[in-house]
Formats: sequence, structure tokens, C-alpha cells
Amino acid sequence: MRVKFVDLRAQFVTIQDEIGLRVQELLASTQYILGPSVAQFEQSFAAFVGADHAIGVASGLDALRLSLQALDVGPGGEVITAANTFIATSLAIEGVGARPVLVDCHPQTYNLDPARLEAAITSRTRAIIPVHLYGQPADMDPILALARAHGIPVVEDACQAHGATYKGRSCGVLGDLGCFSFYPGKNLGAVGDGGMITTNRADLTEKLLMLRNYGQKTKYQHELKGTNSRLDALQAAVLEVKLKYLPAWNRLRQQHAARYSELLKDLGLVTPVAVSGCSHIYHLYVIRVQSRDSLLHHLTSLGIEAGIHYPRAIHMHPAHADLGYSPGSFPVSERYSEEILSLPMFPELTPAEIEYVVSGVRGFLKE
Ligand SMILES: *Cc1c(COP(=O)(O)O)cnc(C)c1O
Repeated sequence: MRVKFVDLRAQFVTIQDEIGLRVQELLASTQYILGPSVAQFEQSFAAFVGADHAIGVASGLDALRLSLQALDVGPGGEVITAANTFIATSLAIEGVGARPVLVDCHPQTYNLDPARLEAAITSRTRAIIPVHLYGQPADMDPILALARAHGIPVVEDACQAHGATYKGRSCGVLGDLGCFSFYPGKNLGAVGDGGMITTNRADLTEKLLMLRNYGQKTKYQHELKGTNSRLDALQAAVLEVKLKYLPAWNRLRQQHAARYSELLKDLGLVTPVAVSGCSHIYHLYVIRVQSRDSLLHHLTSLGIEAGIHYPRAIHMHPAHADLGYSPGSFPVSERYSEEILSLPMFPELTPAEIEYVVSGVRGFLKE
């Protein structure tokens, strides 16, 4: 047996005909840039997360970068984020000329630890970017309270959290701006790159609509130094088809996670903690285990694809050597980068595949 980490084909075949029709329609319409396809999906996605506005952009990285730009974050400013995020978060901060300031993660939830946030705030802090890592909402109430007390805007990195909820509200509407990625492997994935910004703020919406489209309000009237970062019309058409299945897909992920956790209990490894009052939508199912690298190797030899998200904390990347941090700066994130392992997770995973993965893990731990 072989188990893929994410099986995009298993999903594609279930909606192949519907996608084919919609793509044909889009191609025949010849409205390839913005137009009704993007506008329709923006409306649908805004409704899905419960935001007043949604702005389609080219990627999750651009969603973050343009959000910071819309908030006038730039050189001289600092932006606080989690030390254990994907590098897009910190690169977006550097992309606008600001400096990433890192905060270690909470030892149980893997999300930015609110208890360590205040110490990172300075007079130069221009934004805070909590990351809803692995599909579990960050603990937003204390983060928002601190941000409000200091007058700092909050940009959510919801690139792994399409449909996750915190105390009944969706990730992406909790802060000032929410950023999503439609990279194919995400819970809602395009057939290429794509991204979205959600917000209830009309002022930022107006700015973002310009920023993503060369800074123009009307054609050839350039109000801002914008860029070309439009959500592709073809991707929007595909995403519109897929969005209606997302709640069911997320429920399947939750069922698979529950099954994994049930089968893996009492084996001496750490399974994910789902915080009460939140819905974790398991973009990734991440366990923690000693001798992680040997387990990964063992699973690979059994035809089971597993992953590490991520093998290095942000400050340990050579790309971020100039931030001035060193080994030991963020001990929880650093230690976990050597213990975490992501098991196969996608909606179409079968019970037999889950049992095969678990038997592989069990076999290794018994040795
Ligand atoms: C995927 C991801 C991004 C970036 O998304 P792209 O669409 O690949 O640019 C940003 N942050 C996190 C946490 C992600 O998982």
C-alpha cells in the first residue's frame, strides 16, 4: 500500500465534470482578467467567512504583503509574528521593508503564545500577524486585546485556516484583515496560485482593490504605487466550484484527525490538541515524537508520505540570518522543529489508509 501526503487527484476526480464545464464557460467568455468570475468568487468567499469584503489576489504571500502595504507598514516599522510559521509570513513583512519580530509558540497549540506577545511590542510595532497554524485558530482574544490597547492593527495569516472558527466566528474576520492562500494543497486549493484578503473595513478594501491592480482606481488613473497581483479569473472559476464542498471536506478532515488521535493514543507520542470553543480544520495533522527523523524514514520505507512543517524556525533560516536572532532565541519553536511530523491528511483519505499509517507508526515505536 502507498499513502500520499495529499492526494489532489482523488479530489479532482470527484468534481471533474463540474470543473470542466465551468472552465469551458470561462474560456469561452474571454474575460480572463478580473471580471465576473473573480467578482462572483470574492462575493462567495466573503459570505463564507462572514466578511463584508473580499479582495482576490495572486497568492497568500501577496495577500499578506498587500495587507501590510494597505496599512502603510514600511521601512522603520516592526511587525510581530510567530517564530514557527511558514516563511511567507516573514518574507511578506520584509517585502514591505519592515522588520519581522518573532514570538515563540504556545507549547500545546503551536500558535503564537499570547503570554509572550506584550514583551515584543515596541514603539515601532506597526502590525501583528497571528498565524492560524495547521488549521487551528490562534488565541485571538488576548492578542486583539493587546493590539487594541496599543493601537496596533492585526492581520491574520489564515492561509491554513479556510473555514476554521474561533468562538463561533471564522478566521479571517477576527482582525483588521484576513489573508488566505489557494495554493493547491490548502484546504481550499486552486489549480495554480491564488490568494484572498477578507475585511470589514471599507477604507482598506478600496486601497487593496487599487494596490492589486497597478494602483489604479479607473483605467490609467494611478493613485497608488500598486502592483499586478490579481486573482486569476480561471482560478476563481475553479475555486467557486470547490468552495461549496469545503465545509464537507473540512468535516472529513476532522473525522480523520479524530480517528488518528484515537488510534495513536497511549503510544507515547503527542497528538494535536483541539482547543475548546474553536474548530480546528486540520490543514495538517501534526504529531510530536522523539527520533522523528527515524520515524519519517521508517514511514517512507513503507510507502507512507509524511512531512515536516516546518523543519526550521523562522530565525534559523539563512535567509533571515540578518534578523539578529540566534539558536536559543525561541526554544519551543526550535525544539519542536525537531519533533514534529505531519501525517497524511486530506478529505479523501480512507479508513484503510489511516490504519496503515498508524500501524507504521506503531511498528516503529514498538521496535
Ligand atoms: C501557504 C502559506 C502562505 C503562503 O501562501 P502562497 O499562496 O503559497 O503564497 C502563507 N502563510 C502560511 C502559514 C501558509 O501556510
